Amino acid sequence: MRPQARGRGNRHDGRDAHGLGRRDFLRASALAGASALAGATVLGRAGAAFAAPAARRTKRVIFVAFAGGVRSRECIGTPANIPNIMSIAEKGVVLPAVRAANLGHYGAALALFTGCPDAQGIRENARGEKPTIFEYLRKGTGLPAQEVWLSTTAGAQTLNFSHSTNPRYGADYGANLISTDGLFNAEFRDLVAKFGNAAPPSDAEADRVQRLVRSLDDAGLEGTAGAGVRNDAETSLRIQRYILEELRGDTADITGPGAGDAKSIRVARNLLRIFKPTLTAVVLQNADVAHGSFNAYVDVIRRNDTELGLLWKAVQDDPELRDTTSILIAPEFGRDANLNERNGLDHGDSSEDLGRIFLVAAGPDFKQGKTLATPVDSFDLCPTVAELLGTKTPDAQGKPLRALFA
Ligand SMILES: [Zn+2]
Repeated sequence: MRPQARGRGNRHDGRDAHGLGRRDFLRASALAGASALAGATVLGRAGAAFAAPAARRTKRVIFVAFAGGVRSRECIGTPANIPNIMSIAEKGVVLPAVRAANLGHYGAALALFTGCPDAQGIRENARGEKPTIFEYLRKGTGLPAQEVWLSTTAGAQTLNFSHSTNPRYGADYGANLISTDGLFNAEFRDLVAKFGNAAPPSDAEADRVQRLVRSLDDAGLEGTAGAGVRNDAETSLRIQRYILEELRGDTADITGPGAGDAKSIRVARNLLRIFKPTLTAVVLQNADVAHGSFNAYVDVIRRNDTELGLLWKAVQDDPELRDTTSILIAPEFGRDANLNERNGLDHGDSSEDLGRIFLVAAGPDFKQGKTLATPVDSFDLCPTVAELLGTKTPDAQGKPLRALFA
């Protein structure tokens, strides 16, 4: 049996009315195969024998794919480039020896979310076949769509991260998707401008907002929400209002190198503020300017660090988020050891710079101020996030990195 869906009034505080940790509760329910109450009774007798792990304090996870090909050398190897990520790391753990396979940007980034280093069947613009963390989480814990978000720059590939084609999972369990290129495109902004720049719409304006969003669909706006990812009517309205606020705010005006990534992180920050989702994933990609310019690549890293610092500060400044939110930041793979003829960096050699990435993780369940040098795999991140949020990843090859937990 499945625990009841965790609504906002019943924020998953990890404990049910019987004082059981939710994880214990899940286990107990599975053992009993009967009512929740029967499950609790079973746990009362069996709990000690099973020595279930302590209930996690994490209620929300921010999962950042620092993708686009980013070497450790310019990140944890040059702390001056990423002062904000390093300060997150000081309060959490750093893993400097994460193996990452060169599966192409798409395959390698997808592996972070699926827990499978599987390039097979992953073609350009095609969804993967392996369930994503979003699907595991929503199917495994009964979360509604509003609790699971993916913020990404654009491009058909990153849009595909929101859910797989797996018949046991798929769109019904996908993430709400915000594609900043879709959200902030000129056509859409023009449409919103016709609304004027007043405060967010009142209830009386709801109908106009509905009409606006219908017109968005007609305009083929890329992934304001993933097709097939269903939100209830109230959530849909909140999302629409959120989009309007976002467009009237300063995020839309971000320009310059790495603007796409900066917008994605800013959108994630606003999503956290408004929806406080259980899982907020961000896919970055602008660091891939490295092919043509090492300096531009470092600028993107620095800018993303600044934005991630602002995101984490917003979490720390929010009393509801501060003690319950975990963050994981990792690239999908690194880049070559040596500069190319354009003074850029490609990703095709078999160097350690390409195949060894880092993970920075912080939050209430992680060790503090530790560096863990044991090699792990990038596809362990999906199961680790799942474990933090109390679900399993049966199709994933990776394993939860329990050594990170306090
Ligand atoms: Zn590339």
